[in-house]
Amino acid sequence: MDKLTIRDADVAGKRIFVRVDFNVPLADGKVQDDSRIRASIPTIITLVQAGAKVILASHLGRPNGKVSDSLRLRPVGQRLTELLRRNVPVTGDALGVGTEDALRRMRPGEIVLLENLRFHPEEEANDAAFAATLASYAEVYVNDAFGTAHRAHASTVGVARLLPAYAGLLMERELTMLSQLLESPERPFAAILGGAKVSDKIKVIDNLLSKVDLLILGGGMANTFLLAQGKAIGKSLAEPDRVEDARRILRNAEKNKVRVVLPIDVIVAKEVTRGTEYKTLQAEKIPASWHIVDLGKASQDLMVEALAEVKTVFWNGPLGVFEIPSFAHGTNAVARMLADRAEHGTTVVIGGGDSAAAITRQGLADKMTHISTGGGASLEFLEGRELPGVTVLLDRPKPEKPKPEKPKSAPAPKTRPTATRRPASTPVPTKASPKRKTGSRA
Ligand code: ATP
Repeated sequence: MDKLTIRDADVAGKRIFVRVDFNVPLADGKVQDDSRIRASIPTIITLVQAGAKVILASHLGRPNGKVSDSLRLRPVGQRLTELLRRNVPVTGDALGVGTEDALRRMRPGEIVLLENLRFHPEEEANDAAFAATLASYAEVYVNDAFGTAHRAHASTVGVARLLPAYAGLLMERELTMLSQLLESPERPFAAILGGAKVSDKIKVIDNLLSKVDLLILGGGMANTFLLAQGKAIGKSLAEPDRVEDARRILRNAEKNKVRVVLPIDVIVAKEVTRGTEYKTLQAEKIPASWHIVDLGKASQDLMVEALAEVKTVFWNGPLGVFEIPSFAHGTNAVARMLADRAEHGTTVVIGGGDSAAAITRQGLADKMTHISTGGGASLEFLEGRELPGVTVLLDRPKPEKPKPEKPKSAPAPKTRPTATRRPASTPVPTKASPKRKTGSRA
């Protein structure tokens, strides 16, 4: 990882603004899935143990710039309090005199969670004044919110430009795991892509085609590929305007010697609902009134066979309408297969979102090598795009190359390695020259 992390930062006694991703599902005022909260704990504990004053900030849901009582972070603060066994108060608002007072009174080792940042429209607008106020709370910025790193918002980019900005430990792990997929995967390397729409995944498939040995396609998005192969898919979800893209992808796969596995048999249903009539058919000529909703048994077996020897796998997107138990068999079978592969030493990385939910629901999460906390962010990263919330963090200084011997009469001036950052596209006023720690290789 070429970014400085909290291990490189001097945080003792300082106020640290930590952007976390606590965008978790809530129901009846309770957190339904606390994976993202748990994932942030190593960073929080490291900072607390180093004597920092930890100011946590997150968004929750889409309040569209207005206060929404159902999207308050209190349930998250409660869950975090339970997990850390120390009190994590939530401020009434991310801004205001009360909040500023509370932050000023913090002692080393204390944690405060700011109220939902997206109650302010300035957050998503990356408003300069809003970012400056948030930056005034702290001396150091840490981004541990990988799931939001593909968004250039005030708390992911604006504040980071105003303070010395470091990656948290979750951010570091996410970037390390995903970079490894692009840069040095152990082969054979397979990508399994499912989910609803092929249009969301075209760029990632394009980028992965030059990296993978095997591409497995399932879910709604595979239907467009079946169309591209001239097969009838009945009423199934598909994007006819993407058939040309699907053809191009299949041609490129052949050129790059990537094996593509598409469903050969499928579960079709009268309606995409619970309790409807369904049956298995060959994925060839689906009658006009039926919908493809899951992989058939032969497709599952084919995929399991194709994955038998792989050493690295990336999976994003369910392989059927997995919310309905009768149509979750393909997704569940692949999840079980990957858990087994991971136990036998294959690197298995799950790209967040629905596939992560399917794995968690089966109790298989602990078996996988890495489950990303950011579905959208992990896909953008694998498309080969820069994530604005990562770009803005301090670069790790490159180790100096040994200099050739110079004649004694002209000694080279001594230089110290310094943390460098990419130039921001627009100059933003910085706080009074914050001290940047130069950091050593971690
Ligand atoms: P996220 O964006 O949360 O990371 P994802 O990338 O894992 O999600 P999406 O592209 O959002 O996946 O698609 C998930 C949806 O695809 C699920 O709701 C599932 O029901 C739906 N889906 C999968 N297969 C089919 C199908 N054959 N027909 C219709 N919908 C399907």
